[in-house]
Amino acid sequence: AAMRTSRIKRTKTVCTYCGVGCSFEVWTKDRKILKIEPQAEAPVNGISTCIKGKFGWDFVNSEERLTKPLIRKGDTFVEATWDEALTLIAGKMKEMKETYGPDSIGYIASSKCSNEENFIFQKFARAVMGTNNVDNCSRYCQSPATAGLMRTVGIGGDSGTIVDIASAELVLVVGANPAESHPVLATRVKRAHKLHGQKLVVVDLRKHELGERADLFLRPKPGSDLIWLSAVTRYILEQGWEDKEFLNQRVNGFEEYIKSLDLYTLDYAEEQTGLTKDEIVRIATMIHESKATCILWAMGITQHMGATDTSTAISNLLLITGNYGRPGTGAYPLRGHNNVQGACDFGTMPAWFPGYEAVQNDTVRARYERAWGVKLPEKPGMNNHQMVEGIHDGKLKALYLFGEDMALVDSNSNHVQAAFEKLEFFVVQDIFFSKTAQFADVVLPAAPSLEKDGTFTNTERRIQRFYKVFEPLGDSKPDWEIIQEMANRLGANWNYKHPSELMDEAASLAPVFAGVSYERLEDWKSLVWPVAADGTDTPLLYTEKFAFPDGKARLFPVEWTPPYEAGEEFDLHLNNGRLLEHFHEGNMTYKSKGISHKVPSEWVEVSPELAKERGIDHGALVRLTSPYGKVEVRVEVTDRVKGNELYMTMNSAEDLSAVNRLTSSYHDRITHTPNFKEMGVKMEVLEPK
Ligand code: SF4
Repeated sequence: AAMRTSRIKRTKTVCTYCGVGCSFEVWTKDRKILKIEPQAEAPVNGISTCIKGKFGWDFVNSEERLTKPLIRKGDTFVEATWDEALTLIAGKMKEMKETYGPDSIGYIASSKCSNEENFIFQKFARAVMGTNNVDNCSRYCQSPATAGLMRTVGIGGDSGTIVDIASAELVLVVGANPAESHPVLATRVKRAHKLHGQKLVVVDLRKHELGERADLFLRPKPGSDLIWLSAVTRYILEQGWEDKEFLNQRVNGFEEYIKSLDLYTLDYAEEQTGLTKDEIVRIATMIHESKATCILWAMGITQHMGATDTSTAISNLLLITGNYGRPGTGAYPLRGHNNVQGACDFGTMPAWFPGYEAVQNDTVRARYERAWGVKLPEKPGMNNHQMVEGIHDGKLKALYLFGEDMALVDSNSNHVQAAFEKLEFFVVQDIFFSKTAQFADVVLPAAPSLEKDGTFTNTERRIQRFYKVFEPLGDSKPDWEIIQEMANRLGANWNYKHPSELMDEAASLAPVFAGVSYERLEDWKSLVWPVAADGTDTPLLYTEKFAFPDGKARLFPVEWTPPYEAGEEFDLHLNNGRLLEHFHEGNMTYKSKGISHKVPSEWVEVSPELAKERGIDHGALVRLTSPYGKVEVRVEVTDRVKGNELYMTMNSAEDLSAVNRLTSSYHDRITHTPNFKEMGVKMEVLEPK
């Protein structure tokens, strides 16, 4: 008999979940995933992973995967061939473009898809369909951090690497819960804190795991962060603790900026933030005593009405204290999805080409027009938020969306779903029949990362290769192939044979990717952009220059925007965030048995004092109502939250308990990121226990 040969295959991949960007080998036999094996060569995680990276892969072979295109017939969907589906879409999109103009169609990209897929999608929207109406889900999370950093230091990304964080003397974590949202990064912080005497300050509404471990944990009033950050900065200047040499040599705008701090006295800050003067002085003193401080933040900062300004205040504080350009210093906006950084970097944004060059810049546009042989639209397009409003106003008639469950993840989901019902034509491309797909006219089956080649960019700007493990399931296809076929039916003549060709094109057009190539990314190799033509990458930014023409950073005066008030009737504040075990709307993790068994559903955290006042206990069923909608959830009584502060995760498997039934359409003034974290609700008890 023939000898039994081993068919076990080992393939390097990059985690499909969070922005930390762990890489590891996936061991497979046919379509069976045997195990995830981390390797010491992995640049970010070495031999670590978290529960999602290790066990969150069952979704790939789930029976619920979409395997055939679906076309709506009345209230149901029928299976179709690719030719039928693409012919229908191309015909319809052509007709809409001719009737209503190119700006009547919106394009929503995916931060779960590769850099190359985002690149080809923005090219499709701009060069083939003639509009800049293209955006991705960073609009819901980190756009304000990007904007705040672009104002002050020039590049909208983490200024150093995750490994660098270990060399900080002080880590300040504000409005972020890395132990659940960015677990492997949090492990590094925990290790440096425990073993190397690193100081840790956590400022948050909720005492999460890092809050428990912190040397100083502070709980300000919701939405008041800009005030205490500015008061800390003012106090540092009053004490003469600023880094004078750094400011003289490397920073512009000092005089004007210090005037903007007049308001932020300790008295004012104490009154507005609920932190005591001593606490504010203590943070300032700890920053003064540390030789290298970095600040990590996430959606507790960015999902507010004044989010860009608060992110700017963080960067101002780092500049005043000279905390940029050395290992262990700098700004770390922690990206959520594994490729939200890359989706932005590769141009699925309404005002920017790949590499953050403005669509309005004539020289840049001319470069793309020459390369692509078409005239490109000059006017910035609509962002996600404007698209939803545009549909309600009748300006936007059609939407093409891939890899994004916008019906659940955008704020005020009742309002978003009502918009989808008004669309004349809606294409959804995904691996599952998502909530959003229920509103579509055509649903296209896409392939997840294990079924294609590509690159992802993690929170620290690191580009890493992932390799195809399996053929796409059923008739599903990689997103880039679908987009190419669609473009070709609408007049393009593209012939990309492999995603590497898309990366080569991006590298030839966007200066920050000049030296990026698949060859330089082979196996465990990675590149942190900007990457010079000779392949030199930049793990640590601003060592000599900031990213402005004169090489100097800019202090940027900001004002506080008070948070949204829902009205007196809505007497409790509802916060929300991630959970270790699940990811976002949960469409991948709830399909992974090991995970969904452990954490099967959504709940609301209630403080012991509030539980007592309302006569409820663990397991009570409550209805939460905001001005925008209601949800019914079970209660967990915990002292992680305090007083009238409630907390829900955003990972609901069920539409009816989804937190975005409650959130509003108010948003950050500059970036239109919704104020997910500013929600007043009332709570009715349905079952006390
Ligand atoms: Fe994946 Fe993030 Fe967990 Fe790493 S920390 S394994 S990237 S989910």
